Amino acid sequence: MAEFVCTLCGRCCMGMGRYVNIVGSTGPPRVICVHELGKETVYATVEKPYRNTFDPDERDTPKEWCPFLQKGEHEGTFVCIIHATRPKFCRDFVCATMRIYTQDGVESGRVKGHFNLVSSDDRLNALWNERIKPLIARNDVDWKAQAAEIIESEGYRLEVYE
Ligand code: SF4
Ligand code: SF4
Repeated sequence: MAEFVCTLCGRCCMGMGRYVNIVGSTGPPRVICVHELGKETVYATVEKPYRNTFDPDERDTPKEWCPFLQKGEHEGTFVCIIHATRPKFCRDFVCATMRIYTQDGVESGRVKGHFNLVSSDDRLNALWNERIKPLIARNDVDWKAQAAEIIESEGYRLEVYE
């Protein structure tokens, strides 16, 4: 099993605007925020590179995004500007149990739980519906092993997480 590594795609934070609310400040760079899903109140610290530019009242990011999500240094990456002090809900979150790649290393799908493939690859979606969904396994480990064998036999590469 591989260790899950976040690719900073930002997708998990782009719909969190209504669940992560800034409710106060104890003086810059400390903010008080409430994570509605985790039912947590967090005293977070905005990280150094963002302290001068972060203004929760003048956001230039979409309102659907978590207020702490910003574009990263590299094209197509996104970062949490309170990363070191982010809510427990966010620390515990792992967005996938598997990631599936083409042989060229392009991510073509990711799996949430057992049966939820998120992919825009028609061939992979068809494979999933026809051969993976009907699988019957004794336990999680067996299911992952069977699914991996089928997916790899079709020329994909995959990472499986704990
Ligand atoms: S946890 Fe997953 S969805 Fe969220 S930024 Fe990392 S790779 Fe993307
Ligand atoms: S606090 Fe950070 S990790 Fe949590 S949803 Fe917001 S940007 Fe994402």
